[in-house]
Amino acid sequence: MPLIVDSHCDLAWNMLNYGRDYTRSAAETRRLEAGTLAREMNGDSLIGWPDYQRGQVAIVFSTLFAAPARAKEGEWDKLCYTSYDDARNLYLDQLHLYHELAESKPDYFRLIRELRELREHIAEWLDPAEASRPVGLVVLMEGADAIRSLDELGEWYELGLRFIGLSWSGTRYAGGTREPGPLTEDGRRLLRAMADFNFALDLSHMDEQSALEALDLYDGPIVATHVNCLALLPSFPSNRHFSDRVLHGVIQRDGVIGNVPLNSFLKSGWVRKNGSRREEVPLDVLAAHIDHVCQLAGDSLHAGIGSDFDGGFGLQSVPPEIDTVADLQKLAPLLRARGYSDSDIERILGQNWIHFLERTLPS
Ligand SMILES: [Zn+2]
Repeated sequence: MPLIVDSHCDLAWNMLNYGRDYTRSAAETRRLEAGTLAREMNGDSLIGWPDYQRGQVAIVFSTLFAAPARAKEGEWDKLCYTSYDDARNLYLDQLHLYHELAESKPDYFRLIRELRELREHIAEWLDPAEASRPVGLVVLMEGADAIRSLDELGEWYELGLRFIGLSWSGTRYAGGTREPGPLTEDGRRLLRAMADFNFALDLSHMDEQSALEALDLYDGPIVATHVNCLALLPSFPSNRHFSDRVLHGVIQRDGVIGNVPLNSFLKSGWVRKNGSRREEVPLDVLAAHIDHVCQLAGDSLHAGIGSDFDGGFGLQSVPPEIDTVADLQKLAPLLRARGYSDSDIERILGQNWIHFLERTLPS
């Protein structure tokens, strides 16, 4: 089985908002959450350490995420900020949580911040003598309102942050999902400062306008950790997905695009609360999005998977072949049926992200 890298997962947000313990399996979390608000609001969990082991998921880009108060969905939605100071505190809490998790459960999770750590981690995962291994966490900031001023970037970097996405909804830095707009002057200044640290810029959630500007302006590495192909989503009701022009820009910058196995991001008009059924969106639709990225690129070097599992949805909203994250391995035969070779499949499931990290993490 090839190694999988999952380029987007809100682990800390779930741990803090719902008290989820990801050393448990998804099945165990579901059993414990029967009849609770977590299950009602976020669906049945799709992830857990035993599932990562079964699916050979070696690395997860684990997010720091909180929503602005204007997007708060209810009392259960605890991690919302009303000021930049709030945002900083909420995001820092999550970063500290990842450090605590890695320190207290070193057999389950570890942080990956440097090239040496990455190389040792991958060697361990490829060693058949190892019965189980810790999952590697690469820390990603989703929405940059937590950065109050440019002189705080060094502190975030020291604490292990390696990817920054400017937007979720709109932020002070850029237009975002359902809040379109360009980069702001603060956004342009932030990009210039980020380049000094070689932070990877995550374009996910940016509006077409801000994404195209960032592609022109940013000198550092550029990726999209969780986004799908607008060309395959006719009349999608928001600016959440990327046109071929933006996807092509990421490819030209040698970035990687993580496609999302969420039914409402795979089929326009699929809405769980309106009674849409899982069976309407087979996993092969995710393969079609991955194939679209590969066709645009002319190779298999820029496609990946960014599951976003448990990020506001669960089992009830993913293709029927998926019971847990381990089932992402079922993409392999679907890609093979589309003409992809074993080495293409290894790249798409994980190697493209591993090579990206090899190129960009500090030595
Ligand atoms: Zn997101």
